[in-house]
Amino acid sequence: MQCPYCRANDDKVVDSRLADEAAAIRRRRECLACGRRFTTYERVEDVPVVVRKRSGETEPFDRAKLRAGIERAATPRLDETTLDTMVAEIEEELRTEGAEVASDRVGMAVLERLRALDPVAYLRFASVYKGFEDLADFEREVGELQKTTAPKRR
Ligand SMILES: [Zn+2]
Repeated sequence: MQCPYCRANDDKVVDSRLADEAAAIRRRRECLACGRRFTTYERVEDVPVVVRKRSGETEPFDRAKLRAGIERAATPRLDETTLDTMVAEIEEELRTEGAEVASDRVGMAVLERLRALDPVAYLRFASVYKGFEDLADFEREVGELQKTTAPKRR
């Protein structure tokens, strides 16, 4: 590390400790040229999640775009906090699955959550995401929804 005082490039680390709730390592360094001490912080670079589209193209995961898509389907049925939490959870989930995820996986992650939270928002999102073209598509989806969510009758 270059010394901020004399610009020399020679130092030794005199102390290392975790900082910022373990998200960073703080190092005290001593310049071997001028003897002054300075501090550096080392942190893990945010790993960007890349989404691979059906066409094979990739694009960086876009939190705002995902939220806007969910918002269109879920307003006014789900509140802001629920949407924010959902987007954060999905991003976290995708991040744990690797640096690259299929766009279908993103859509499914949204659908799974909406399905549990609100059937109407789920259907709206599914209609856009799955490209519903007519009433039959909706009916089929509602049928699926009832099959899996309605209590079984005996
Ligand atoms: Zn120095």
